[in-house]
Amino acid sequence: MSAALSRRRLLLGPLARDAEQSAATVNTSCLAAQGIYCRSCAEACTRSALSVTPLAGGLAHVAIDPETCNACGECVEVCPVSAIQVPAQPVNAHG
Ligand code: SF4
Ligand code: SF4
Repeated sequence: MSAALSRRRLLLGPLARDAEQSAATVNTSCLAAQGIYCRSCAEACTRSALSVTPLAGGLAHVAIDPETCNACGECVEVCPVSAIQVPAQPVNAHG
């Protein structure tokens, strides 16, 4: 969790949690987390809400910013292993 997100949670409480629950999430099936190069989701996200951070050993961590993600589902469609989920009802509160 980022420091900025922690401050946001502190200030907004339940409202911040609502934003996170309306965003996409990534599970352990992600290829990048297993050392296989993949950036398809990050390339597909037109809001730049999704980032892939390289880690030691050729692994990478996919993170989704819940404040920026609008659950559009574009990253879901391009993921080769269905590692990304979005809420059943997309929320348009973020524009
Ligand atoms: S597209 Fe899927 S497998 Fe590839 S980095 Fe994103 S979440 Fe991982
Ligand atoms: S659901 Fe849409 S906005 Fe959210 S990370 Fe995926 S492509 Fe980006």
